Amino acid sequence: MTINIDRTKEFILVSACLLGKQCRYDGDHRKSDDVLSSIKDAGIQVISFCPESQVFGIPRPSCMIYNGDGQNILKGTTAKVLDINNKDITKGLIKGAKLALSQVKIYGIAQAIMKEKSPSCGVHYVYNGNTGKLISGMGVTSALLKLNGVELFSELDCKSVI
Ligand code: SF4
Repeated sequence: MTINIDRTKEFILVSACLLGKQCRYDGDHRKSDDVLSSIKDAGIQVISFCPESQVFGIPRPSCMIYNGDGQNILKGTTAKVLDINNKDITKGLIKGAKLALSQVKIYGIAQAIMKEKSPSCGVHYVYNGNTGKLISGMGVTSALLKLNGVELFSELDCKSVI
């Protein structure tokens, strides 16, 4: 999918690490020039948000979704999020997703650019904890935003934008 920013809206939500914020589990960022150029000329204000650092801080143990993806977690299946120490942190990721949704409601956000492959922010792919491999699916925050009508893109969707 290619990103098509709705210029009639005032705000767009973007995963903070894509903007260069050092909010990843290891204190690093994933600044994306593709994302920055996509939003630069759109005349839209960016709401930068990191659901996991809001709940767990920085740094924090890495985590993956087991038995499914974020959509499965919201449906209450056996899907769950375990951190690297095998601690079940599913509720924490759901809390982070709800915090992101509150930003969406406050700012009237209709679109979001989220970090691919993350257990919170993945849009098209997430890592499957059972195998350690990528599967098609969404992170928990992206799944909740989609349920609430937000149009989702990832940095991969920004690649074709010049
Ligand atoms: Fe935070 Fe999402 Fe980036 Fe992970 S992918 S660091 S949860 S903004």
